[in-house]
Amino acid sequence: MTEHEPITIETGLENLARGYRIVAANGHLEATLGHLSWRDPEGRGLWMKCQEIGLDEVEAGDLHLIDWDGNVLDGSNGHRHSEWPIHAAVFHARADVHCIGHTHPMHCVLFSATNEKLVGIGHNGSYFGGKVQVFEKTLALVRTMEDASVMAEALGDAWAVLLRNHGVTFCGTSIEHCVIMGIAIEQACKEQLVMNSSGLDWQWKVNNGLKDEAILYPRIVTNLWRYHNRKLDRAEGRS
Ligand SMILES: [Zn+2]
Repeated sequence: MTEHEPITIETGLENLARGYRIVAANGHLEATLGHLSWRDPEGRGLWMKCQEIGLDEVEAGDLHLIDWDGNVLDGSNGHRHSEWPIHAAVFHARADVHCIGHTHPMHCVLFSATNEKLVGIGHNGSYFGGKVQVFEKTLALVRTMEDASVMAEALGDAWAVLLRNHGVTFCGTSIEHCVIMGIAIEQACKEQLVMNSSGLDWQWKVNNGLKDEAILYPRIVTNLWRYHNRKLDRAEGRS
């Protein structure tokens, strides 16, 4: 997996804003709902967008710094998202994680309502190594550290956890890794829903001995991140 490399706050916020717009273009857009966060490199808390802005609209100036108690310290004056504890709980539980996403993409939401276990049919599913659990303490918004900590427990050492009838939380060792895992989890849920709907007999990839590291090694994460950035620039008329 991509190792965390220290970057300046300015670069981090620009990458985080682009990460928002990239996941928005890849199935995660639900108007203003959902959020990505980045661990503040100075240890003060986490950066995420304010409530008023759509995922596809985020610029660096729409981000604000929230401390571990939920106070907004710096950045945008917009309203704080009520589900900020999701991010704080995962950052507390996982020292290896530097970026987290929580969104409600269609195929993750549909999959989260089933009793099916997510497995790897193709590459996208196998990145998660058969470790994706479902958090089901509440079907409502996760607004307290108590609920968020239970969700972080369900995440364990995986890169994603589904939230029953709600959505998904995904993470990574860097902004680029998190964004790629977010795109992959939505695609993996879609693949398995389509496969199950087909009625065909099928087998899963992880069960056949293929580990996630065999496919998604750091250079591939970087290649995918750069590709999605070029695609974003084309879509936004910058190239
Ligand atoms: Zn939510």
